[in-house]
Amino acid sequence: MQRVFFFGNGKAEGEGLGKEKLGGKGAGLAEMTALGIPVPPGFTIETGVCAEFTQNGKVPGLEEEVDQTLQRLEKAAGRSFGDPRNPLLVSVRSGARSSMPGMMDTILNLGLTSKTIGGLAALSGERFALDCRRRFLQMYGDVVLGVHKEEFEEALSALRQKRGVTSDADLKAEDLAEVVRRHEAIIQKHTGKDFPDEPREQLWGAIGAVFRSWDNERAKTYRKLHRIPNDWGTAVNVQTMVFGNRGETSATGVAFTRDPATGERRFYGEFLPNAQGEDVVAGIRTPRPLNADGSGASLEETMPEAYRELLRVRDLLEKRFHDMQDIEFTIDDGKLYLLQTRNGKRTGFAAVRVATEMVAEGLISKDEAISRVEPEQLVQLLAPIFPADEKQAAIASGRLLGKGLPAGPGAACGRIAFTAQRAVAMAGQGDPVVLVRVETSPEDIAGMNASAGILTTRGGMTSHAAVVARGMGKTCVVGAGEITVDYGKGELRARGRTEREGNWISVDGTSGEVISGKLPTRPSEVLQVFVEENLRLDQSQIARSFSELLSWADSRRRLGIRANADTPTDARVARVFGAQGIGLCRTEHMFFEESRILAVREMILAEDAAGRRAALAKILPMQREDFVGIFREMGERPVTIRLLDPPLHEFLPNDEAVLEKTARELKVSVEKLRERVQALHEANPMLGHRGCRLGLTHPEIYETQVRAIFEAAAAAIQSGGKPHPEIMIPLVGTRAEFEKLKVLVDETARKVTAESRQPVSYTVGTMIEIPRAALRAGEIAQKADFFSFGTNDLTQMTFGYSRDDAGSFLPAYIESGILPEDPFASLDTSGVGELVSIATQRGRQTNPRLKVGVCGEHGGDPRSIAFFHGAGLDYVSCSPFRVPVARLAAAQAAMSEGKEGVSSTA
Ligand code: ADP
Ligand code: MG
Ligand code: MG
Repeated sequence: MQRVFFFGNGKAEGEGLGKEKLGGKGAGLAEMTALGIPVPPGFTIETGVCAEFTQNGKVPGLEEEVDQTLQRLEKAAGRSFGDPRNPLLVSVRSGARSSMPGMMDTILNLGLTSKTIGGLAALSGERFALDCRRRFLQMYGDVVLGVHKEEFEEALSALRQKRGVTSDADLKAEDLAEVVRRHEAIIQKHTGKDFPDEPREQLWGAIGAVFRSWDNERAKTYRKLHRIPNDWGTAVNVQTMVFGNRGETSATGVAFTRDPATGERRFYGEFLPNAQGEDVVAGIRTPRPLNADGSGASLEETMPEAYRELLRVRDLLEKRFHDMQDIEFTIDDGKLYLLQTRNGKRTGFAAVRVATEMVAEGLISKDEAISRVEPEQLVQLLAPIFPADEKQAAIASGRLLGKGLPAGPGAACGRIAFTAQRAVAMAGQGDPVVLVRVETSPEDIAGMNASAGILTTRGGMTSHAAVVARGMGKTCVVGAGEITVDYGKGELRARGRTEREGNWISVDGTSGEVISGKLPTRPSEVLQVFVEENLRLDQSQIARSFSELLSWADSRRRLGIRANADTPTDARVARVFGAQGIGLCRTEHMFFEESRILAVREMILAEDAAGRRAALAKILPMQREDFVGIFREMGERPVTIRLLDPPLHEFLPNDEAVLEKTARELKVSVEKLRERVQALHEANPMLGHRGCRLGLTHPEIYETQVRAIFEAAAAAIQSGGKPHPEIMIPLVGTRAEFEKLKVLVDETARKVTAESRQPVSYTVGTMIEIPRAALRAGEIAQKADFFSFGTNDLTQMTFGYSRDDAGSFLPAYIESGILPEDPFASLDTSGVGELVSIATQRGRQTNPRLKVGVCGEHGGDPRSIAFFHGAGLDYVSCSPFRVPVARLAAAQAAMSEGKEGVSSTA
């Protein structure tokens, strides 16, 4: 079976084989080659051998296959390995199925030996040859021989200092010769051996190291964050070198076929003349723009031919891949070569805009557009921004620290951390953190993830910080060059100000501004259009794209989307974001309001039903008003109202001062009140006197709530509305519990209707959140109109994990792989999910008209939504701000049905 795939001269053996086999980079190189785009020839060793190679250090037969392909490569390149006059140099590059930028290793200029260096120098000069050599020593030394990068960096910067230059590009040939000697000595000291001087030995050393880099720590962290399976493995690409460091007619650069921050359809990128490989993204020199900007330094102005060729390639690539591409190119003495193409990482803003505009351009279908955007990314479009006036005032008062490039839109305000480790530690203490670095590197990934915002002082829009932040949806500003970061002193300095670790800083990822201190935030453009209504739809491109995409999603989804909303304000937000109803209105939140808590306490403290009724009479009109407001907002849409659920003691005063105040207000003695509070104390309140148990022991509470609902509904009808209340009984475990309370609801409804002469259409159902209820769903459904899975409690009770205490062991469980992830965040589809499926099936068997939904946190989690879709539920309900996420996730679930099938196991 073929495991090594050649590409070059317009032909690629791997064409069409895809990323699974060739890795993203290998597949991209194959496809570009086949398209006739100039790509230096090379070959790809498939991902499938990674595990075996890493384990055994070799794979039988692979060496022969590589040798044969290498001969073809030498022929195609017209140079051969180890030839002292015209040596072939190659890069050895990692490349996994899913792009992991900078996480694994690549080695350039391989094949340079004491014998071949002269040939290279004769061709293009000594300085150039030495530059290649020192780069090769650095990369090979680091990746293959395990020498610390810093040792090489120090040798290099020592020499820069000695020569009084800031850039490596200003070092002369004799300086580089000195660097090469020092690097060789470092390697000799570290390994006790001379640097390998035989190209084939170098090659196999590099291939092995690249395979092994799949398992380095930062790659593992990245995979965990991005849920990339550990067993995929990386491919290895061996490719003829082309040189961007051959002088001023050469360059290397990166580009996006569209703006990765906003999605605007314009070519976007950066380059550096006389540079190689990672120089552009490493942020060592500040790169130049591709498009003419009047500076005279752009690629368009300095190398117009190569620029035009690049534009041609850009169109070819978008037509071929039907998506925004992120490309790496090198110009070798005026000639353009493409070295990589992949689907570009983009912000949520860009994802939405590119997807909808590509439909308009005829590049993709609506279905493709729907599947292009990660539901989670929509959250960014709703994230707050800094109010312009506040920001202006801060700037006017001299708080501007500098301006960088707007790499990740949004507004972040947090305490400064100067290292990734500190960011992680400080974020654990509660306040948001802004990670401030000169530049970030793949090792910083965990710290970036823990931060609310990221700021770097060097690097461009395609630097590591920018790319990774965009992938994570983080607010990010890069290349804020006026700011000096002093790691030694633990401070940053800019415009005469000094900020230390822990100080507050505000970062505007939309404009690039960095401001000292805290700034308030304001709703995003999308919110201004739909919620605040102070911006018109035609004034906001992103709001138009957003609503267009979601309207397409609505036409593809089968799951209904509702929201969890307790107040008229929440209900309105839910509605404007497209909620089709309220799936959970929690009545207890209303009880906590300042104006009511006293009456609620009076009710709880009452000794008997009569006392409770007296207090409830005060609560009734207030509760009625709540429902009137919600019914008004929701119009004809269904509103599921849950009767009182939490244990009563949650409403009682929990500290001495409040206790005394309450005693005064209620005109009882402090002792008596304390006694009552103690009497209500429970060892295990979440498993105690709560939910329907309260309704059964203190029926007057539920009676009052039901009365408030029906009176409000009657009022709504009188003013022309058509409310659809759905009364939901919480925490039911047995059929009898439900039956008794349903009778109470029906009787109360009848009484109110008799008084108001206003019939209300309503339903009565239950939450399924106790495993017993899920198992006995058949008999409960005989009486119930609907089920709503309370997956928070259901998860708690199925695992036997207290939600409030799980923090002490869940992280360790996830860390050690006992659990794949937090089951409270993403549904445990195999266990809790099985209960959901069982309850749905059994419930529908006895009651085919049973309506089934979900109202736990999981209702807004895309992967859980895919499960609920597969389980055949009617709707999911989530917080209002997640409604757009859920709409899109539900569409994607419907579309992927039949393709892969929605799996019902974890
Ligand atoms: P990564 O996976 O981190 O992006 P790459 O394999 O793309 O790493 O290599 C890093 C850099 O080296 C790229 O910017 C690319 O431009 C450069 N590079 C890789 N192979 C070659 C080559 N054959 N000739 C010139 N430059 C190369
Ligand atoms: Mg690359
Ligand atoms: Mg519950």
